[in-house]
Amino acid sequence: MTWRVYVDGPVHEEALTMLRAKAEVVSGAAPGSAEMGEALPGVHAVLLRTAKLVAGDLERARELRVISRHGVGVDNVDVVAAARRGVPVLITPRANLRSVAEHVFALALAANRNLLPADRSVRDGRFAARDRLVGRELFGTTLGIVGLGRIGAEVARIAAGGFGMRVLCYDPRLSPGQIRERGAEPVEDLTDLLGACDLVTVHVPLSEETRGLLGREELASMRPGAVLIQTSRGGVVDESALADALRSGRLAGAGIDVYETEPPPKDHPLFSADNVVLTPHAAALTGQAMRRMAVDAARGILDVLAGADPFDPPEDAGWRAVNPEPPVS
Ligand code: NAD
Repeated sequence: MTWRVYVDGPVHEEALTMLRAKAEVVSGAAPGSAEMGEALPGVHAVLLRTAKLVAGDLERARELRVISRHGVGVDNVDVVAAARRGVPVLITPRANLRSVAEHVFALALAANRNLLPADRSVRDGRFAARDRLVGRELFGTTLGIVGLGRIGAEVARIAAGGFGMRVLCYDPRLSPGQIRERGAEPVEDLTDLLGACDLVTVHVPLSEETRGLLGREELASMRPGAVLIQTSRGGVVDESALADALRSGRLAGAGIDVYETEPPPKDHPLFSADNVVLTPHAAALTGQAMRRMAVDAARGILDVLAGADPFDPPEDAGWRAVNPEPPVS
């Protein structure tokens, strides 16, 4: 049987080569190429970048056996409807964690060393501005990590090993022992953590529980002169309270990659603060991570089409299923 795989956007060539060796690839990447709606009834797998797969699409995709996300977020696919149809939804959990963790330090260093104002001062011929741009080392300072999962734990390793920082963590889902194993000292209360750190970085998923987790009150409990880094999901940090804390100078700086509305509106409150570094949800976008996401997602498709149990992936697989196992009938 010839497998057919739909790929909805541009992905690394290595993944396409892997897929083409075993399947016919139907690409939605080039202008004028196959529309997903038309292609779905005949495909056995979808390698999904940004297109939306809702319940109606899944009904039409009668031959579909697996959906494989290029990355970890599954907000663009109805995982419950997929499970109802017995179609596993795979993610690539390890592919971009190092890129996001390194981006945390790109933002932290930019904020601590005033990189954006320093760059502007050189271009504008204000070299003497350097006397007002005295920065701060990360070495010997205290980092607070909110959420010590895959990315948080990688940040902890880099902070302690590379920058000589003391690392504290708030993650109520982990035991103190698990937090210590991942290289951080546990702190039971979020406001205690915020009050004890020079740099705070957030790595929780967006959920009902974490929406507004760092609200006005929590931001007010941060150390004066501290820096906040936010690369998790928009909605976890109150952006307008953060803008106030930055404009008033209570917080020395911030580095933000994700926003409640993306792209953020032109009058976003953070745009009026000078001491914030903004990136366009780009923390995971490195050449290496793009390759890993594509290759791991393609590998997941080929493994599942070849008969691997999606709910019990091989030990070294870079993919895993996220939707509930279909009921045994
Ligand atoms: P993960 O699931 O491995 O870890 C999340 C951690 O958050 C877990 O340890 C969990 O116990 C903890 N947590 C849950 N609720 C909490 C709460 N109320 N308070 C404190 N901790 C809590 O996830 P991950 O792979 O490390 O990803 C973390 C976040 O990064 C996710 O939101 C993900 O969407 C985001 N992300 C962003 C980018 C980007 O491009 N900016 C890329 C990848 C992931």
